[in-house]
Amino acid sequence: MKILVINCGSSSLKYQLLNMENEEVLAKGLVERIGIEGSRVKHKAVGKEEVIIEEAMEDHRRALELVLNALVDPEHGVIESMDEIGAVGHRVVHGGEKFSSSTIIDDEVLKAIYDCIELAPLHNPPNIMGIEACRQLMPNTPMVAVFDTAFHQTIPPANYMYPLPYELYEKYGIRKYGFHGTSHKYVALRAAEMVHRPIETLNIVTCHLGNGASVCAIQGGKSIETSMGFTPLEGLAMGTRSGDVDPAVIPFIMEKENMSFEEVNEMLNKKSGVLGLSGISSDFRDLEEAAAKGNKRAQLAIDVFCNRVKKYIGAYAALMCHIDVLVFTAGIGENSISIREKICEGLDCISIRLDKELNKVRGKEAILTKDLTSTQILVIPTNEELMIARDTLELVSK
Ligand code: ADP
Repeated sequence: MKILVINCGSSSLKYQLLNMENEEVLAKGLVERIGIEGSRVKHKAVGKEEVIIEEAMEDHRRALELVLNALVDPEHGVIESMDEIGAVGHRVVHGGEKFSSSTIIDDEVLKAIYDCIELAPLHNPPNIMGIEACRQLMPNTPMVAVFDTAFHQTIPPANYMYPLPYELYEKYGIRKYGFHGTSHKYVALRAAEMVHRPIETLNIVTCHLGNGASVCAIQGGKSIETSMGFTPLEGLAMGTRSGDVDPAVIPFIMEKENMSFEEVNEMLNKKSGVLGLSGISSDFRDLEEAAAKGNKRAQLAIDVFCNRVKKYIGAYAALMCHIDVLVFTAGIGENSISIREKICEGLDCISIRLDKELNKVRGKEAILTKDLTSTQILVIPTNEELMIARDTLELVSK
């Protein structure tokens, strides 16, 4: 079966068409600037040149129409007709407490995703737009929602509850949900394969370090704790997000800087993290370059980022007693040799011993430890699209 995977942002749409006979990607692409001047589709089919289709798109439905046209196009397409698409898998950011696994989309499920808008006002609406556009254009094709939060629904209350008045949880569902679940799950499953052990026997810590970043503790294949919380703002220092700060800082700066809630929210999400600290960039390539030239604030941003990751790894070692496998994934985790080295530095005390020679690897699967008795450190490029396609196939085949 061929499965189309869709990941909709507010003005973007990423897609992949996979042939699930061999899990090969047949075509993939990105639609940018939906509803904004200068919108375009970047489309790449296997074995063919990338094409850029520049066309005005007023909404996600039009964007999807152009994607489907590209897929069936005689020149740069990969299928003859839309009927060849057996199912569509949609990435959905927030499934609240309702969804602990992927699910076939029907009216009731769609309503439940609408109900989660309150918890993810920036993310769920574009996800819904993608689903509705597909329903209009491909009314007979089954669709599956794969939630970023679902994998973390196994986290026990002792780890997901905030020490706030309990009524806030009852009234508004204020608790930790966790994100990047599809990525943490994918790399954990792959890690178990790479170390040739059943996932049920392993304590794994996965570090998804990209623009957004989170760490996850996975015991016996189940998420038991993760660093992102009620929203993707909690936890690590990220590209532009603050991660953990003393909550008292917020009313303090609101008063001192005469800022509104919206302005503080914007500052914490868009102007903080390593960008805010360094004043240079949210991109680690820029930060590493600046730090190498002696820029102290770029170095400080890197140090804060690495120490946070290290502290979470230490906390998760304490929660699980022992870490069998430590995984690095996403843009920074897959590519930055120096950041991986810095994070693992001095973690000998919890059996984390990175081999500097084996660590000289970028963007491909690798084992970074020689000593088989210590924690196995792995690099695994994440593949959320494949995970979404697998879940979709499994559900529609039932
Ligand atoms: P997201 O999907 O969250 O947008 P990615 O997982 O693609 O992010 O990660 C993007 C980040 O990865 C970039 O901002 C950059 O900081 C980092 N990155 C990518 N390549 C490298 C590299 N070679 N060295 C260091 N950092 C890198």
